[in-house]
Amino acid sequence: MKTVNRSFSGVLLGIFLSLLAASPRAAAQAKPKPIVLKGARLIDGTGRPAVENSVLVLEGDRVVAAGKAGAVAIPKDADVRDVSGKTIMPALINLHGHLGLSSNGADSVAGNYTQENVVKQLNRYLSYGVATTTSLGQDEDEIYKIRDAQHAGNVTGARLYTAGRGFLEYTGKNYPNDHRYRPQTADEARADVRELAPHHPDFIKMWVDDGLGHGVKIKPEVYQAIIDEAHKQHIRVFAHEYYLADAKALLAAGLDGFAHSIRDQAVDQDVMQKMKARNVFLIPTLVRDEVLFAYADNLKWLDDPFFKAGYDPAAIAMVRGPENVEKGRRDPDIVKYRAGLEMAKKNLKTLSDNGVKIAFGTDSGIPTRFPGYFEHRELQLMVEAGLTSMQAIVAATGTNAEILGGARTFGTLQPGRRADFLVLDANPLDDIHNTEKLSAVWQSGKIVPSVSAKMTSGN
Ligand SMILES: [Zn+2]
Repeated sequence: MKTVNRSFSGVLLGIFLSLLAASPRAAAQAKPKPIVLKGARLIDGTGRPAVENSVLVLEGDRVVAAGKAGAVAIPKDADVRDVSGKTIMPALINLHGHLGLSSNGADSVAGNYTQENVVKQLNRYLSYGVATTTSLGQDEDEIYKIRDAQHAGNVTGARLYTAGRGFLEYTGKNYPNDHRYRPQTADEARADVRELAPHHPDFIKMWVDDGLGHGVKIKPEVYQAIIDEAHKQHIRVFAHEYYLADAKALLAAGLDGFAHSIRDQAVDQDVMQKMKARNVFLIPTLVRDEVLFAYADNLKWLDDPFFKAGYDPAAIAMVRGPENVEKGRRDPDIVKYRAGLEMAKKNLKTLSDNGVKIAFGTDSGIPTRFPGYFEHRELQLMVEAGLTSMQAIVAATGTNAEILGGARTFGTLQPGRRADFLVLDANPLDDIHNTEKLSAVWQSGKIVPSVSAKMTSGN
């Protein structure tokens, strides 16, 4: 009897609590107090000019208003924070990364593809201000569980999108955790896409490259079948490519996006017209082409405190160690790598000037390509290529969000979008290196741990 009574009173208590939670008063209390950041220069990610002396109003995880002081009403009960002198810009979105291939950024031992490593990497991205990232292939099926857990609010870090396993023929270089599909015929390709589709990858990735002649490209009839079957399943296909001729053939086959620059020769009107006609974007990944010789050359950014602050000293010691430097210097393709970067920069400028859609991505997450810092370095290289700081920032924010289907939900600082943004101590429109002057990172309306805190504490 006693037990029954106790559980009965437990039920009553439960009813009482749920009534309380449902009452209008409780709902009013649960409504988050608006936060207002006022006084900053605001770059909203749409490409519109920056707003000096701005007001940014957040409610919960969203931006509810943004604009010039005086033109935006400040809610009466708001928590108002003065950020005069700072610059606010949307958090970065990386449209070409990889996850779970390294545990510390430099190593590549088998077995790195664990939830723990993937989440560690997502947090690393976020600490550098990359609030959204994509994994363009080489994922294990574990990624879908991690993505689900993130959607349920149980995984922190950069918001993730994934291509799943990916499709490869090229066999020049392999990584220990390589689960890519390798269809040899059109039928096999279609079967592989049908196997992948029920996992709901956000897009499909395929590699159409011979690795400077060291490997074998996916045959045209095989990639045509991948694209056709993917489109039947309403999935877009992005390709790793290098050569202009392949870019043209891929466009003819219906490709949706280029994951790298065209690096063998200058782009021509034909390729640009076709890209524009079908709204096909290009992700330059200039830092990916730079890193192929960066360690051999001991480039200046390796001494950048903002780089050093974010990673395991053992990982930095590994890439800067004599063994790795020598390996880079002895690489017979190093001359081609340098030429490839120069051609990529030249083509980026031409494509941008001709109105082709420029996206933003780095190919970070591959061992020795450091997630987080590489996104800042990519912005710098885009500006070195001749883009304005504003163009580079728009690629990394508004344009990437649009490509990910999120134009109305994230990527820009406009009403209704998720409050993912960076507070900077200096203006990146004056000097793109100022994105490294990171004062705070906000994701979904909250300040998250950032690499800047580590720098000021001297760690
Ligand atoms: Zn990649």
